[in-house]
Amino acid sequence: MSTSKLGMAFKKDDNFGEWYSEVVVNSEIIEYHDISGCYILRPWAMEIWELLKEFFDAEIKKLKLKSYYFPLLVTENVVQKKKDHFEGFAPEVAWVTKTGKSELEAPFAIRPTSEAVMYPYFARWIRSHRDLPLRCNQWCSVVRWGCSNPIPLIRSSEFLLQEGHTVFATKEEADEEVLHILELYRRIYEEFLAVPVSKGWKSEMEKFAGGLYTTSVEAFIPNTGLGIQGATSNCLGQNFAKIFEIFFEDEKDPAQKNNEKDKRSLVWQNSWAYTTRSIGVMVMTHGDDKGLVLPPRVAPIQVIIIPDLLEDTDTTAINGACETIVCTLNQAGIRADLDARENYYLEWKYSHWEMKGVPLRIEIDLKDLANKQVRVVRRDKGAKVDIRSTDLVEHVKVLLAEIQDILFETAKEKRDACIEVISTWDEFTAALNDKKLILAPWCDEEEVEKDVRARTEGADLGSAKTLCTPFDQPDLMEGTVCFACGKPAKTWSFWGRSY
Ligand SMILES: [Zn+2]
Repeated sequence: MSTSKLGMAFKKDDNFGEWYSEVVVNSEIIEYHDISGCYILRPWAMEIWELLKEFFDAEIKKLKLKSYYFPLLVTENVVQKKKDHFEGFAPEVAWVTKTGKSELEAPFAIRPTSEAVMYPYFARWIRSHRDLPLRCNQWCSVVRWGCSNPIPLIRSSEFLLQEGHTVFATKEEADEEVLHILELYRRIYEEFLAVPVSKGWKSEMEKFAGGLYTTSVEAFIPNTGLGIQGATSNCLGQNFAKIFEIFFEDEKDPAQKNNEKDKRSLVWQNSWAYTTRSIGVMVMTHGDDKGLVLPPRVAPIQVIIIPDLLEDTDTTAINGACETIVCTLNQAGIRADLDARENYYLEWKYSHWEMKGVPLRIEIDLKDLANKQVRVVRRDKGAKVDIRSTDLVEHVKVLLAEIQDILFETAKEKRDACIEVISTWDEFTAALNDKKLILAPWCDEEEVEKDVRARTEGADLGSAKTLCTPFDQPDLMEGTVCFACGKPAKTWSFWGRSY
């Protein structure tokens, strides 16, 4: 028995928050757990995650990334020692203090991210330049506790992620990889999830704690006017190498060859991650008042076939035809499935698969069978078209590609319509109240960002901050001043409130 409900009580444009909570449950993406901030990911979410994983794993294998699994727990000792890094995460770290009824002598932290778990071992494994690069990836979950206002997939205490940790002899190699990975993240969002993102640099305040610089892909949710960080690719520089004492003997460096004592060099490191939040961003972007709308490339089922069995019809013939269609589509590499359940009404099935966001529905009845045709219905537009059975594979392929493109184009138009270019503080606050994605000339100074945050602190809304400084920079005319402090502007940056 399915638990999915037929209709949506809330409308996306009227009550976005309630709509989102309803759609992720009704479409069987998640179920609420009895601990706030923790959610059960159901097969519909896990299959989307696995499709993304399949793409990403294949791409990073080309970069010779190896799979690892490091333990969930970090000793208190490491946490204390690596205080600078952990400070950024400190309020969110969950601790294990007891086993059974006895208190632990020293508590363990549950990883909020794995730098402190992995890097002591990197120091042990790396000896010479021949051990480099070291490239490690793991798929796991992390815990960042204490979000006061959790949102399934978007802001949760435990979530799934991919985390890559790499070590190089030179900064050049590290820099190059940061951008390569960021491009993979852009592709995950834009080419798979059909969500437009901006690639850019994070500000000093927003960069990864303890890192050298952070790049990210940033999405935007027009309904709430909130930015959302999609994924980050960080260059850690040599900061972590210093803390964790990760050296290598650099035989290639002639300057160091003469100095026996100082033959060792610090390594350069990157870390990069994306999480199940990506699925939440996709739900928010494409869903509508009928439920989820899935981009075909990440739809666990791309085509659902539903036989229209009236009373007294020849069910054997129709079911047989449907099974043949499923087979033909599957053989053509299309994820198709059959809903032949007899204890559900036709209308219920239509609504059920619309709720789950399946891109195409194929209906077939006796008349269609006689005419050697099927009826194809699009989830995104509701348009129906009759197609000859012999042309089905070709048509379905074209339709799926078209839906994928249209979802992206529509989302991009909506996102772009929210971008507001401003130049003064008054324009900034007006655009902020209008839920815009603000592009502003900025001096790029940490103190100014702190000040902007303080000045925009809302009652229940968070304060405004930089989202990113996009790689794609408009011209900065000579004499342009910072919107917040009036000093000369150095960049154009995206600002806004965010998740
Ligand atoms: Zn300024």
